[in-house]
Amino acid sequence: LKTLNRRIAACRRCPRLCAYRHEIARRKRRAFVDWEYWGKPVPNFGPSPAPLLVVGLAPAAHGANRTGRMFTGDESGRWLFRALYKAGFANQAESTNAGDGLKLIDCAITAVCHCAPPANKPTRDELDHCRQWLRQTLNAVRPRVLLALGQIAWTQLLPELIRRRWLTPPRPWFGHLACVSLAGGRSLVGSYHPSQQNTFTGRLTQPMLDAAIRRARELCGLAANSAGGDCEEGC
Ligand code: SF4
Repeated sequence: LKTLNRRIAACRRCPRLCAYRHEIARRKRRAFVDWEYWGKPVPNFGPSPAPLLVVGLAPAAHGANRTGRMFTGDESGRWLFRALYKAGFANQAESTNAGDGLKLIDCAITAVCHCAPPANKPTRDELDHCRQWLRQTLNAVRPRVLLALGQIAWTQLLPELIRRRWLTPPRPWFGHLACVSLAGGRSLVGSYHPSQQNTFTGRLTQPMLDAAIRRARELCGLAANSAGGDCEEGC
């Protein structure tokens, strides 16, 4: 995964995204003016192999595009890492920067688009370009369970799962807690993305995200996290 991550970080295939992520890194947000933004494709995070692969959409402009680590430094990441920690997939709930000591356990995180896109919307071509990395990440991580965060991650995974003959058409619908059995004892689980659009409106609540990650853990064949792992907020 280390070699693959180096190759991902050096990718320049999508001109619009290269220009955008550089521009964001140059302009910065006032709150992060002292930061040296990462401003490159954000590599995968976590060990390989790993039974669980979490698949997100794309780095946030002032989140992972700033910190250089998946889901790190924004509100979505705060939600995700809290839930992963609670389930026993992380050693801590906090994720502020790439050197904060956070380690994933039995879990890796990737995205269907490794560069921050304008308005969080990669084009179809950009998603197609980035599928090469998804393919290689699946080879490296060899997950038993895929947890797709949001409909775009789910939709982007399906052609690759069909190509590998892990899934037979018709393509299954996305939904929160949607669960699909794949060849070889693998599974695909859906969850609403912990974006602010979903969490602020109550479309996704913390118990809902916990339930999706708990389901993924069961399907991985891992014991429930008996250590508790309650976050500092007591949830
Ligand atoms: S989105 Fe993916 S394919 Fe496009 S430049 Fe970034 S890493 Fe490369």
